[in-house]
Amino acid sequence: MDFADFSDVPVVDGHIHFPHPDLVGDLIAVMDGTGVARANLVSVPDPAQINQNPALIHFKSLHAQRAYISGALDYTATLAEAEGAARALAGQIRTLRAIGFDGLKLVEGKPTVRRTLGLPFDGNAYAPMWAALEELGFPVVFHVADPEEFWDPERCPDWAAAHGWFYGDGGFPSKEGLYAEVDAVLKRHPGLRIVFAHFYFLSADLGRASDFLDTHPEIYLDLTPGVEMYLNFARDVDATRDFFIRYADRIIYGTDIGAGATVDGPRRGIAWDESAGRAWVVRSFLETGEPFSAPVGVGHWLGMDAEGFHGIALPRDVLAQIYHLNVERLFGSDPAALNAEAAIAELDRLAALVDSREGESVDGPARQVAGRLKAEA
Ligand SMILES: [Zn+2]
Repeated sequence: MDFADFSDVPVVDGHIHFPHPDLVGDLIAVMDGTGVARANLVSVPDPAQINQNPALIHFKSLHAQRAYISGALDYTATLAEAEGAARALAGQIRTLRAIGFDGLKLVEGKPTVRRTLGLPFDGNAYAPMWAALEELGFPVVFHVADPEEFWDPERCPDWAAAHGWFYGDGGFPSKEGLYAEVDAVLKRHPGLRIVFAHFYFLSADLGRASDFLDTHPEIYLDLTPGVEMYLNFARDVDATRDFFIRYADRIIYGTDIGAGATVDGPRRGIAWDESAGRAWVVRSFLETGEPFSAPVGVGHWLGMDAEGFHGIALPRDVLAQIYHLNVERLFGSDPAALNAEAAIAELDRLAALVDSREGESVDGPARQVAGRLKAEA
């Protein structure tokens, strides 16, 4: 995989997972090797550690200029049905912002997560949070739904089913049900600035994607695979290219690098082959005008032999918008500065929460990162 032939437009990856503080070296190597100037690191809730926010704080404290960070929520009060839990979620937005987070990440629209939490997006639990996000103009990277074939017993890929992502057994929300909840939220809060991950799973229906973007001028779509996206895009190359040029100011480059280490655990690491393969496929799609396949040996992250992609050879000014200008308009031309004092307070709170959950003192990421920041203060 050679990245030297790609455009020299600066690249900001809008969607990278960074699940554990030990993975800094892995990620820097991937960013340097694939020519990524900066990334938006996203965190998700974690049953053992509350969320991955400590890892993001750690990365930003070491590489302040190389990462925007988008934090996850803490559902402890919500799941305990504690009084004021909905206001607490809104308060977390203010806390994240005070620490130096650049945005919020919500994986809560993935059907498995939506089912576990049982909280409709347009319900009471989230209402004050959406209001706070809109008021502060705080950007959100939001994963809603999944490829439609995951609901279809005939078409659900084996690898998806193996992860528990077959949703056709009646126990999961429907794709349209999830979209309806989002529509209700956007109607109430038209100022919300949301990047819908994985193209909002509308890659098979560009007409609908177009209507959605026209209706909601503050909304963006990211290009993070799902491999199905790139197969859908290849079905009508000219229509896809027209769409990307027309909505050049609404599309954000992203790869989901680190997603494997998030799903399978940090011991999987952020491996070069898988990570570079993701970047190579998305960039080949944007920049070349030819059919292409995933490089040999990196197809495994797609869960399949990945063939049948086709590039759309976008002009340089369009690439500049998709690679960095849009994400900079949304998250700021530079990442927010980290406030060490506010970060330490939140890390101590998370560490105490993990301790009380486990009934003993746990030397996890929150305590470790807090310890490091205190030693350097
Ligand atoms: Zn992701």
